[in-house]
Amino acid sequence: MATRIHGTQVEAVQGDITREEVDAIVNAANKTLLGGGGVDGAIHRAGGPAILEACRNLNGCDTGDAKITTGGRLPATYVIHTVGPVYRDGNHGEPELLASCYRRSLEVALENGVKTVAFPAISCGVYGYPHKEAAAIAVDTVTTFVQENSGLALVRFVLFNGELFSIFEQALDIVA
Ligand code: ADP
Repeated sequence: MATRIHGTQVEAVQGDITREEVDAIVNAANKTLLGGGGVDGAIHRAGGPAILEACRNLNGCDTGDAKITTGGRLPATYVIHTVGPVYRDGNHGEPELLASCYRRSLEVALENGVKTVAFPAISCGVYGYPHKEAAAIAVDTVTTFVQENSGLALVRFVLFNGELFSIFEQALDIVA
């Protein structure tokens, strides 16, 4: 599933984000930026110690914000670390914070000359965000951003499993 929005290709694929050959991959990190499980663990394992070393100088990251480091040994040049909200009941600012993750990651990307970006499904693992709602927020926020900003050639959602992949595909279908 791929769609073109205001000069940016927006698409969903199933796969492992650590293998993506894009300018930057986004990490669903925790506030310390000092490593975790899930996609964070996979990125640090694949990219090697240079990423953690760079993270140590960043003083953590607030929920909804994003910070950039080297991609170390990854095919991607950079990793953009963002911190998704832990889902409680949807009434604790979760939708706004999740949208902010996508928006801030893309702002940081543009500030650093990044033209191609891959996102995982932020907050959709241990942080427990309901998948359909999270996909709608991800697609809406990215769509709005690329309509309002030029400079990005590709935004790719990389979903680890088939269930999330089809949910993101359906969310993209709606905007296509
Ligand atoms: P969070 O703490 O934000 O919920 P997780 O890392 O627990 O982050 O999960 C976020 C999503 O990333 C989940 O859907 C999980 O399946 C997925 N994921 C885990 N490893 C990878 C990977 N190597 N590539 C892409 N997605 C991954």
